[in-house]
Amino acid sequence: PVDALRQTLAAGERRKKIAVMTSGGDSPGMNAAVRAVVRTGIHYGCDVFAVYEGYEGLLKGGEYLRQMKWEDVRGWLSEGGTLIGTARSMEFRERWGRKQAAGNLISQGIDALIVCGGDGSLTGADLFRSEWPSLVEELVKDGKFTQEQVEPYKSLTIVGLVGSIDNDMAGTDSTIGAYSALERIVEMVDYIDETAKSHSRAFVVEVMGRHCGWLALMAGIATGADYIFIPERAVPHGKWQEELKEVCQRHRNKGRRNNTVIVAEGALDDQLNPVTADDVKNALLDLGLDTKVTILGHVQRGGTAVAHDRWLATLQGVDSVKAVLEMTPQTPSPLIGILENKIIRMPLVESVKMTKSVATAIGNKDFDKAISLRDTEFIELYENFISTTVKDDGAEMLPVDERLNIGIVHVGAPSAALNAATRAATLYCVSRGHKPLAILNGFSGLIQTGQIKELSWIDVENWHNLGGSEIGTNRSVAADDMGTVAYYFQKAKLDGLIIIGGFEGFNSLNQLRDSRKEYPIFNIPMVLIPSTISNNVPGTEYSLGVDTCLNSLVKYTDEIKQSASATRRRVFVCEVQGGHSGFIASFTGLITGAVSVYTPEDKITLSTIREDLALLKENFRHDKGENRNGKLVIRNEQASSVYSTELLANIISESSDGRFGVRTAVPGHVQQGGFPSSKDRVTASRFAVKCIKFIEQWNKKDIALDQNAGDEKVLRFKYDLHGAKVSTVDNEDNSAAVICVNGSKVSFKPIARLWECETNVALRKGHEVHWTEFSRIGDILSGRLKLRAEV
Ligand code: ATP
Repeated sequence: PVDALRQTLAAGERRKKIAVMTSGGDSPGMNAAVRAVVRTGIHYGCDVFAVYEGYEGLLKGGEYLRQMKWEDVRGWLSEGGTLIGTARSMEFRERWGRKQAAGNLISQGIDALIVCGGDGSLTGADLFRSEWPSLVEELVKDGKFTQEQVEPYKSLTIVGLVGSIDNDMAGTDSTIGAYSALERIVEMVDYIDETAKSHSRAFVVEVMGRHCGWLALMAGIATGADYIFIPERAVPHGKWQEELKEVCQRHRNKGRRNNTVIVAEGALDDQLNPVTADDVKNALLDLGLDTKVTILGHVQRGGTAVAHDRWLATLQGVDSVKAVLEMTPQTPSPLIGILENKIIRMPLVESVKMTKSVATAIGNKDFDKAISLRDTEFIELYENFISTTVKDDGAEMLPVDERLNIGIVHVGAPSAALNAATRAATLYCVSRGHKPLAILNGFSGLIQTGQIKELSWIDVENWHNLGGSEIGTNRSVAADDMGTVAYYFQKAKLDGLIIIGGFEGFNSLNQLRDSRKEYPIFNIPMVLIPSTISNNVPGTEYSLGVDTCLNSLVKYTDEIKQSASATRRRVFVCEVQGGHSGFIASFTGLITGAVSVYTPEDKITLSTIREDLALLKENFRHDKGENRNGKLVIRNEQASSVYSTELLANIISESSDGRFGVRTAVPGHVQQGGFPSSKDRVTASRFAVKCIKFIEQWNKKDIALDQNAGDEKVLRFKYDLHGAKVSTVDNEDNSAAVICVNGSKVSFKPIARLWECETNVALRKGHEVHWTEFSRIGDILSGRLKLRAEV
């Protein structure tokens, strides 16, 4: 169906012309979006133009509207800001300005415009579309064009991409640039933390977000802040100071040496008075805390895009071109968004309207409405933040008989977010009155030493940014000695278990569930949070640690590519991890613009190597010197037992006829990352709380008479949505599950079904390859697909 979009010209037909522009505030990832639009447009047989300097350029026309060639966007994935420029244009707000812009588009034969910007830019774009027929009519009346000349341009196609660091657009989980800005903030707060702890200081950090608290909320979660101020949740006038002080003092009393408060620039009290960083500082000075203010400012917009934004912008850029080609004059203008892991299209006007209604609700002091207009992830994370930091004074504690002993174990190789997830689980347990019990050093630790440690608030307080595993991890599985595992579970009186890990964790969960009949202590709810850089846990598309790994790879490949520009014409064969799963390789190939990607899913053959050699030569032939970055070939570590990284490099080198040099690059353990990325920290926190709630739901208890033994036993069960009792833990597969992301959904999938239907045990991964699309899009954007067709 995709190739049906390819434009073939009948005699006399004109080629489809698409323009792409960036507008409003710049955001990291905009270049990746423009690159994807240019190359996808060319791939489908269209002419693609870039509008330089936003709407200002559209009004000026001429050299501001430039046709883009395939080579023009080479190397753009790793550039920050927007290379085609952006501006704010007062003239475009006027009808005469828009008429002039329409004239410029018609002069170039363009009738489709892809706009990457914030809600202002997109509102302008939609207004432009709705006025288009009348603007064209006026241009004819003014004598600028004849009726015949405008005949082919009866309607204008508009597609929106949201480029904004604020993440303020309704209906989409994230906007292009938001996670890059969050990463900058989190990095800076991590630095500040070090000095704050040394001097036992409090820091108030102001972040961007005039009408949207996304950056402040996510930064608060990712940096373990004590308190946040966001526009959607105004604080009580004249009273917020007391709560702030009380929370900071409480955390100090628990042993914290520093305090962090994040303030969104648009923070308000419920009388609509701004709450500034200085107001917050003054309140903390009152408490006697040595307090400093840091206003991060434009640092937040700076730098290159993180992996997530390069991926998001690329996939959305591709989809925006498809949308242009699929739309009719009747189709409402779409906005390309994302829900969890799925790229979606939604009506632009409604999203913009809803976005604006948040500001209106805030203006009307209707803060409940303002927050309800944010997406479910925002609301969920806000509630989690409140539960684990503001209301951790016992306000949310369950009655004593509902409090649980919850085991937490790390299984497998370390990945970046193990500690962040454990911290979030612990803090939520503490606020609910549960006991978080860490099983030290994985299952073999338990089997050998039986060590289980109750974690306290202060134990985990600074784990949000620690890589590795503070409680110890191990590749061993539960079945190494099930009897001993059962003994210690019994001894600790566990009511539930959270396993955080990769395939061995998955395997252990299955073993525990399988042993329920033999060891009744395993009749407790158990859940796995997939956490492995290989992303090879069956049943889910997402695993903690992957984002950190991809960021490390992006940084690594940016650096090696740059080193090549000094030495000229160099190819790097870069070997990435992932075991038998090609996910990391395919994803990295897509977001680094690799010339080719070798994965275990696609066999390497002599003919694919030959094709790639031809593509490399073609690439270098067009390289005139201005973009002389190195080229990348990505090879998964298990892609072939014959064509090793070294051999591939030698083959390419031998065939290059001296036209380019070849080097191997093996990032190795760099991929496990040091500090977890902001996205991994936030997701870790979200999943951990969801898992505790899962365990709580499955812990309604009944006392029943055990028919065989004749004594009493506790039966655990769950209520369904209608208040009816769902069958008990021991005969209900759903009570041992994996938290999974599939497309736009997060769900708990029973391990029993996953193991039976979706697992390739020998290759330690799922049957389904959920990233095929990345490989295909990567091949389109690298030109590999075109070359293959030609060969
Ligand atoms: P950011 O999120 O960075 O603020 P934005 O796209 O919302 O991005 P704006 O300054 O609101 O930024 O808008 C960018 C440009 O879009 C404006 O300078 C103007 O040219 C155009 N624009 C905005 N709103 C309208 C409108 N209502 N009608 C016509 N054009 C508009």
